[in-house]
Amino acid sequence: MRPLIGIPCEGNLRSKFRRFCAGQSYCRAIAAAGGAPILLPLVDRSTLHDMYTHLDGILLTGGGDILPRYFGEAREARLIGVDRPRDEVELSLVRQAVKDGMPLLAICRGLQVLNVALGGTLYQDIPTQVPSALQHSFRQKYPRNYLGHEVRIVPGTRVERILGVQRLAVNSLHHQSLKAVAPSLVTNATAPDGVIEGAELNGPRFVVGVQWHPEELLEVNPRMLGFFEELVSAAGGVA
Ligand code: MN
Repeated sequence: MRPLIGIPCEGNLRSKFRRFCAGQSYCRAIAAAGGAPILLPLVDRSTLHDMYTHLDGILLTGGGDILPRYFGEAREARLIGVDRPRDEVELSLVRQAVKDGMPLLAICRGLQVLNVALGGTLYQDIPTQVPSALQHSFRQKYPRNYLGHEVRIVPGTRVERILGVQRLAVNSLHHQSLKAVAPSLVTNATAPDGVIEGAELNGPRFVVGVQWHPEELLEVNPRMLGFFEELVSAAGGVA
């Protein structure tokens, strides 16, 4: 039986059809890595808990900005796509997963949720709050696999073991980033401007976050599948 990897949906707030949905690339990457992706709708806490008990691992995906009140700040910048029910579901899911030792891979917004859930904070808008930063938001006019900047991988981290290199080019589709890293996390990647591009839990458990989108880079860099294989492997499958 393939490990079941739960993927919290987004609420698709812009649509009058009020759908719960998740990006196809994440689901395909989990399947390609030998896992079974299970979408988690943003329903009530009790129902979600029952679904959670069947899971072997969790994948947090990209999406809109976390409401700053969850990291103790007022709105200080332009925010995009705030989805409060999703914030609440994902923040409590991360805390439960870390408590239980449930393997977790956190991508883009997912990295930010991971950090906030464990006590870290965010830059609400890189261009206004980190004026010296490079461009990190390569969205509308760019394909999702556009390699926007380089990252340096921190030696000795899980991300270094997954990628096998200490420098590489990545895509970049974000306007927020980690500010204070949560006490239990360590930075695993940074951009040349110092912007944090990944963080992970110290220790034997697989809790890894990156700011870029490996699910969109599987053809550009086959090593990116390693993130999903490691998650599935930690969740009990054979990668
Ligand atoms: Mn970036």
